[in-house]
This record gives sequence, structure tokens and C-alpha cells, in this order.
Amino acid sequence: MSISLEQVSKSYDGGAAVSDVTVDIGDGELFVLLGPSGSGKSTLLRAIAGLTTIDHGRIVLHGRDVSNVNAREREVGFVFQNYALFRHMTLADNIEFALCARHVPAARRRKRRQELLKLVSLEGYDHRYPTELSGGQQQRVAVARALAHEPRVLLLDEPFGALDAKIREELRRAIRDIQRTVGITTILVTHDQEEAFSMADRIGVMDRGRLQEVGEPRALYRQPATRFVATFLGAANLLLGNYGYSDVRLGDSWFPVQRWSRSLCSGDEATIVVRPEDVEIAEQEDSLSVPAAGIAEVAELQFVGSIERLRLTLPASATLASALRPDADSFLLEAARTARAVEELPLTAGQKVWVGFKGMHALPTPISSLRLLARTSEAFEELANSVLVRELAERMRIAPVRIDPGAPGTAALRGMPVVSLRQADDLSEPLGLLDEGARQVLVLLHAGQRAERMLILVEPSATARDATLAAAASLARHLTIDVTMLVHVDKKSGRGTRYRELLDLRNTSLRSHGLDIRTETYHGSLRDAVAARQSSPGQVLLVAGLASLDGRLLGSLKEIVRETPPAGLVLVSGRAEREARKQATMSRQYIALAR
Ligand code: ADP
Ligand code: MG
Repeated sequence: MSISLEQVSKSYDGGAAVSDVTVDIGDGELFVLLGPSGSGKSTLLRAIAGLTTIDHGRIVLHGRDVSNVNAREREVGFVFQNYALFRHMTLADNIEFALCARHVPAARRRKRRQELLKLVSLEGYDHRYPTELSGGQQQRVAVARALAHEPRVLLLDEPFGALDAKIREELRRAIRDIQRTVGITTILVTHDQEEAFSMADRIGVMDRGRLQEVGEPRALYRQPATRFVATFLGAANLLLGNYGYSDVRLGDSWFPVQRWSRSLCSGDEATIVVRPEDVEIAEQEDSLSVPAAGIAEVAELQFVGSIERLRLTLPASATLASALRPDADSFLLEAARTARAVEELPLTAGQKVWVGFKGMHALPTPISSLRLLARTSEAFEELANSVLVRELAERMRIAPVRIDPGAPGTAALRGMPVVSLRQADDLSEPLGLLDEGARQVLVLLHAGQRAERMLILVEPSATARDATLAAAASLARHLTIDVTMLVHVDKKSGRGTRYRELLDLRNTSLRSHGLDIRTETYHGSLRDAVAARQSSPGQVLLVAGLASLDGRLLGSLKEIVRETPPAGLVLVSGRAEREARKQATMSRQYIALAR
């Protein structure tokens, strides 16, 4: 491995700039860090280069832990966004700068400089000054300069930032060629997804200090794990459907889904991503090549040459709704057609058409919707305006739905039901919901408080493990919050969680849920352990996996809620997970039989 980052974290006064970033980058790989402005990309890059210190974690370059090694000795070359060439020096002096600092003899410097100018296609420009070059040429010199001392890692921070479109395109190709020729492990930072797609071997998407997802460009586009990445990498319709055993129901039809989260099961609400190019449109149901999801009305058409963009209005139902506004009566579906398809079936606004989906992808998040249980609209407003719900709703782009707890039906059990307690330690309502089949419930205790820390409570061998990690990962990706898993270790008897299991837990969390978690062990009572991590009420969000609804953990939680209430408590049921396992076995048997 060329670059290994382990839980790298960095905070400034304003809060966390980089949170627990863990990733391995292979030899010769071109890794693109992509994310909106302020997401922590530059901070992470500077930390790798040694230009900024880190608060926590490890940075390993080619097997050597350089976390405490100074920048000069890290064998890293760095290119900044604003051409950082020395204006008063010739290109020759610019390129040789790092070599002079390292006392390389003049003859070798000259040889290296000439090699590099050739590499960046600027042979013979040795004696020019930066101001005599175009922006693109200057950035190529900056690359040459960064490579002069033969670093083993090249870091580029938005190197195309200040250039116009055509030059950017040329420079992208040039840098990609140089990187391939030299074979140097490279991290390139950009906020431009097209740039990321055109250059990367793999892309790491950052948002609010977290590395949200890592993958090859095509896989990230086709199978994102989060709403953020799904929508950041291109246009996407986010829909709510229903899981079946091995497929998803959207509207009137069932569609096969490619990926399937282990803890989601039949009957659960599914968050589905449909790209505009995967929406199929026909005049008749039987002209569709895929099952029909329903009938839509053409709301808007825009022809842009190679393709036509459309917006279609679809009526919402219990089996097909917008994941952004689950309670809207209808929603807009974005579609795109090729010019050829437009010729075959010209459409006009107001026309009714059949729609089906040629491809779709199910997000692994268990938080498909936010359902606030409120008897009155005032109670609903109160829940909706709580810090936690506001932050989740905004970041997940979900409009919370009001559910009347008195009304019969299963609507209250789907996605993430949210309740507040009528009495300080009366957990009967949330437990009732879990008992009726909700997979998780968010209990709000300090509505006005922002939780700084998430504490995950899960027994490694308990059945609620995957469901709890899935819920915690989804929450962590959307909240600005420090995440720690609390694990009980019995000092005297050596019982409790063994360290081997702890490592397994961390691996599962990282592999299946994309969340690297810090783990802290505690001895004695859970109440004391939580109290020690919460100096005043409302500072933590507890996420607890319940293997059963009457176990010991629940007793401790009641105690905590009564004595040192956290901002919120997420109770995750182990039942959904048992159910999912049973269904997985059943569908395997079913498939075996069908063969
Ligand atoms: P990006 O490169 O993705 O735009 P940065 O890494 O520059 O993001 O910044 C991440 C966050 O850290 C931002 O909120 C920014 O304001 C903050 N930050 C970055 N550098 C400093 C600094 N030197 N002092 C204080 N805050 C900083
Ligand atoms: Mg930056």
C-alpha cells in the first residue's frame, strides 16, 4: 500500500475539518478526492503532506508511519491551486528549487530539470519566467517542480481551479499522462465531478469532513451508498418503494435490485435511486421493455441537442413516492431520452405516458423517511424543529411526515419513527413501536440541544449488530458528530467483549457500512460510562441495539434517560435483523428449489 490513512482527524476552532478518515491507496493509483467546498479536502491533503498536524489517527506512506515526521522528509510533492511558482525565478530555478535545498550537485540538477521539462512538454523553456507562460503551462511547471526531488507521492490541490474550460481539459489529459508515465501514486483534489470521473482510478467523496464513500467511478455512479453521493455525482430520482424478498416494489410492479443491505428485509421501506436515463417512456403499457411503474403526465420538456430532458408528474402511492417528500400526493420524476428516442416518440407537455425503470439501485440506509409521531400540529412542529430532526431532515433532504399515533396502520412503523417522551423515563411508546415491528425509533429527550457525540452501544454477538451499525452509519454520515462505540469489558472475569470481536466489529462496520468507528471499552456500569462521556445533559446521542425488549441493556438505558438524559436515543430492534436473516435463508432455499 502506498498511502494508508487510519482514522485521520483534524479540528479547528470552528469544529471538525476532517473526521476519522480511513482509506488505503495503492501504488501508482490516481485517487481523486471529490467534495463540495469546505468538506475538508485541502485539510486532509495538507495533513498527508505534513503541512498541518493531525489530532488523531495515523498517516502511513509506503509502510512508514509519518504522522510525526516533518514535511521535508515525507517524500511528497505538492501542487497548489494558485500557481505557487516563484515569479522572480526562471523555470530552471523554480524546478531546481527543491534540489538546491537538498544540496544536489549542479550537473545532476540540470539533467533532472531537462528530463522534467521534457515530461511536461516544455523543453527549451528553461530560461523563461512564469509570467511569460499561460496558466496551463504554469501548472505543468508546478507539476514538474513538485516531481523534481523524486517524491513517492504526488498531491495536487485543485490544480485546474483557476483555468478556463478548454485549458482545463488539456491539462487534465497532460497530468493524467504524466502520472501514468512516472507511475507515481497521486491524490488529486477537486470539487468538479466531471473532472473526477475523467481522471480517477478511484474516487473518494468527502462531505463535512467525512470520507463518505470510496469506489471506482462507474461503481460509485451506479451503486452509491448514500443519498449525498447519489445526487452529488449526477442527476438522480430518489424514490420510496417496498422491499420484497429479492426485489423491490415500485408502483404497480416488482423490479430486481442489485444490491441488498443485510439488515433490510421484506416489508421494509426502500430508498431507491433511479437515474434519468433509466426512466423508460412509452405511449402504451405493452410498448415498455420493462414492467410499468405507472402512468405519468409530461410536465416539462427541454431539448438540449444530444438528449431531451423531461419532467414527469407521477401520482404518489404507498408503493411509490418521493423519498424527499414522502407525504406529497404527487412528485416530479426526471427523465432523459436520446435524440433518437425523441424522434420515435415525440412528446408534448400535458401528455399522459407509461413509465418504467430500466435500472435502479437500492440505498443501504435504513433511514428511508422521518415519521414524527404527533397528536397535534403544534406537537409536530416541536419535533420537526428539534435540532436533531432539523439537521437530519436538511442533510438527508427528507421532509418529515406527521403521523397521528392514534390512527391505525403501519405508517408509523416505517423508516425512522420519531417520538418524544410523555414522561421522563417512560419508554413504553417507543418500545411499543418496536414491538409492533418498527426497526428503529428515535426518542428525542433534549430537543433544543445539539449532540456533539454519538455513543453506539452494541453487544458484538447480539442480533441487533448489523441493524445498529447500519443506523449509526447512516446517522453519522449526515450529522456533524463525533462517533464512538462503547464496549463493555469485564475486568475481573475477563468475560464481556473480547478484543478479537472488537476488531471484527470495526471491520464489519467499515466494510459493510463505510463507517470507521473509534472504540472505547468500559468496566462497571453503562450508566457511569455514559455519564463520564457527557458532562452535561444533552451532549450525546445514544444509539443502542436491543437484542430483546426486556434485556439488561434496556434497564440501564432507562436509568440513563432518567438521570443524565442524552439529546436523543435511537433504539434499534434486533428483530428486523433476525427477520432479514430468516428471509435470506428462505430466499436462498427458494432459489435452490427453483433451479
Ligand atoms: P475544502 O478544501 O474541501 O474546501 P478545507 O479543508 O479547506 O475544505 O476546509 C475544511 C473546513 O476547515 C472548513 O470549514 C474551513 O473553514 C476549515 N479550515 C480549514 N483550514 C483552516 C484553518 N487554518 N483554520 C481554521 N479553520 C480552517
Ligand atoms: Mg480546498
